[in-house]
Order: sequence, then structure tokens, then C-alpha cells
Amino acid sequence: MARWHLVIDVERCEDCNNCFLACKDEHVDNEWPGYAASQPRHGQRWIDILRKERGRYPLVDAVYLPVPCMHCDDAPCVAAGGGAVRKREDGIVLIDPVRTQGMSELPASCPYGAIFWNEEAGLPQKCTLCAHLLDQGWRDTRCTQACPTGALRLVEASDMQMQATAAGQGLEALNPEYATRPRVLYKNLSRWDSHLVCGSVSLERDGLVECAAGATVELYAGDPVAAESATGGSASAPLSTAITDAFGDFRIDGLVLEPGGYSFSIALEGYAPVSYEVDIAGSCNVGTIRLQEVSL
Ligand code: SF4
Ligand code: SF4
Repeated sequence: MARWHLVIDVERCEDCNNCFLACKDEHVDNEWPGYAASQPRHGQRWIDILRKERGRYPLVDAVYLPVPCMHCDDAPCVAAGGGAVRKREDGIVLIDPVRTQGMSELPASCPYGAIFWNEEAGLPQKCTLCAHLLDQGWRDTRCTQACPTGALRLVEASDMQMQATAAGQGLEALNPEYATRPRVLYKNLSRWDSHLVCGSVSLERDGLVECAAGATVELYAGDPVAAESATGGSASAPLSTAITDAFGDFRIDGLVLEPGGYSFSIALEGYAPVSYEVDIAGSCNVGTIRLQEVSL
């Protein structure tokens, strides 16, 4: 049978918070009997937008990650709810607003932190995927309807269709190590969980310092020259390669880095190649590297 899924494209989220506000508009001061009690005005983010800055000024990249309830198939909240939290046939997980009265331990059961405790009403609450609207024939939730960039997409599909879509579009679960089989899947998740290494290259020409456009920048794990001479083997392959832009800037994205020694090799025709080692612990800006003209 067809079930509901939410597809979130990290690349498209601009942190406008329209989704968050639409959720508030739908649920604050509104009771939806059988689905959810009224959401408090403050303190609960049924769809939260996490933020991360990669790099360092002036070469930075801001990434935004919308995080609602994942409507997991193997949901720890369902297991902890003793029948008061249920998984519907259509994939939606609902917290019974009456039967969960006083269950203050329920928020801790969710590894994604998607359940909030309503102190005043004395009950746990979370995103319902606007089940009260879908049950009336809606084809959107309030958040997917409000998203101006297409970052949020509600998809009704069978498990087999969704598996094919996920494989074709590179959709991934957030924190797969939680093993909860979420029905919320992410596109371009590497923007969030990979590293960005950037920097600038300049050159000296006729006594003036200029941007080095078109330089080839290679990033290696360790020192490839030392490794090559130690083993007598061939040069190791770079982890990644970038070409500097018109401002001499380079960005190497999508890296999975372990803290430790890395090295750069920079080449531009007419200038002496430069190699240097650097400790990289994660996303960073390695600063400006100066090339010197080859004297003839
Ligand atoms: S994300 Fe948390 S609250 Fe939502 S279904 Fe999974 S375990 Fe339950
Ligand atoms: S409405 Fe769309 S673009 Fe705006 S914060 Fe939400 S997911 Fe991001």
C-alpha cells in the first residue's frame, strides 16, 4: 500500500522558517482531537531548522537542516508508549494526546529529540505530519505547502516505489546509526555531514600581489612526497582536486576528514609549485598561499 514520506532537500533550505511558522499557525491554539493537543506558542519546534557554518570568514558556507519527527517504522517512542503511541498503516506515528497524559519520560525515548514536553498540559507532543489534514484529503502538510523553495516534499508511495526513488535520487536517512527506519529522507545530506576545506592562492608578478586564478590545488592525506620516498613507490592519489576561481579562491567540498596531517600541492604554469603540510580537524579555511614566479 502507499504510505506517506517526507523528502527534504538540504541544498534548497534557506532557513526562512516558513515551515515552522505554518506549523505554529496550524497547531497553536488549535485542538485536533485524536491527533494532537494544542501546541504551545513557545518552546516547541515540531520542525526545527538546525544550522551549521563551514569554513571561516571570508570563505564560509551556511547549511540548514530541517528536522521534524522522522515517523520511524521501528520507532523507539512507539515501543516506549505502551500502546499510547501508534504507527498508522499509512506510515504516520501519532502520540495519543489523552492516553499519554503524564508520560514525561516519552521525550527521552526519541533519539532525534523530536518529542517535546508540554509542562502546562502535562503531555508529550510532536509533529503529526498534519494527519488531520491528510485524512481529509489534503496532499500537502502545512509545512510542505508553505516552503517557497521546494525543500520539503510530501510523497505518497509504496515501500518499493520509495526504495527506487531513494536509490535514484540519492536519498538518505539522517543518523542511520539510530536504526529506526525513518520515513523522512534527505537529499544532498552530504552538505550537512561532510567537510569543506577552502583557501586562497595569490601570486607575485612585477612586484605586485594578484589573485592566482586557474591554479590547480590538490589535497592529500599525509605527506605524499614523504610517503613516496619512504616506500619507493608511486605517488599517492589526491583526496580531491580544485581549480582556483577568478579571485584565487578554492573550495573542496564533500570531504570526510579524520583529525590529522594533510598536505596541499599547488601548481600554476609559470610559477614554482608549492607543497605544504597542514593539520585539519574539520571544515576550515586554510588561508592564503603565495606562489612565486619562476625566474628564467
Ligand atoms: S523521530 Fe522520534 S518521535 Fe518521531 S517516530 Fe521516530 S522515535 Fe518517534
Ligand atoms: S520553509 Fe523550506 S526553505 Fe524555509 S526553512 Fe522551511 S524547509 Fe527551509
